[in-house]
Amino acid sequence: MEDKQHVCGRCFCGKVQFEIQTPVINIIFCHCNMCRQANGSDYTTWVRVSRESFDLRRGEMELVRSEATIYASNYFCIHCGTTIYTEDIRYPNFYGVLRGVIRDELDQQPSQHFFYDSKLPWVEFNDSLPKFGGKGSREPL
Ligand SMILES: [Zn+2]
Ligand SMILES: [Zn+2]
Repeated sequence: MEDKQHVCGRCFCGKVQFEIQTPVINIIFCHCNMCRQANGSDYTTWVRVSRESFDLRRGEMELVRSEATIYASNYFCIHCGTTIYTEDIRYPNFYGVLRGVIRDELDQQPSQHFFYDSKLPWVEFNDSLPKFGGKGSREPL
């Protein structure tokens, strides 16, 4: 029997619960306006996972989709409002799971900053990670 490693996560109220097989693809910081508004935080830490590694264990009927952009949808718990993950039709193999809803430790660290030029002025990082910004956040800063 294959011994797969996984981490567990849940929404605030616990009606939505999931597991993710590890290792995840990567973890990134996003400083864009849309993430900021959608998640109500100064920046967002996204955990990029393959869709087959994401296993919804509980709350299929409680998870509601909300269109964020013409490409992306957010999935959140209808009871407590916690956003669990985002999907983007341009990247059909992946989900972006919010780091905050994963309860377990991940043995990976964030590896990049996106939309770094949209960063709020009081948010400071003392790291040497690659930083991207500009049009579509693809230009190295
Ligand atoms: Zn909930
Ligand atoms: Zn963003």
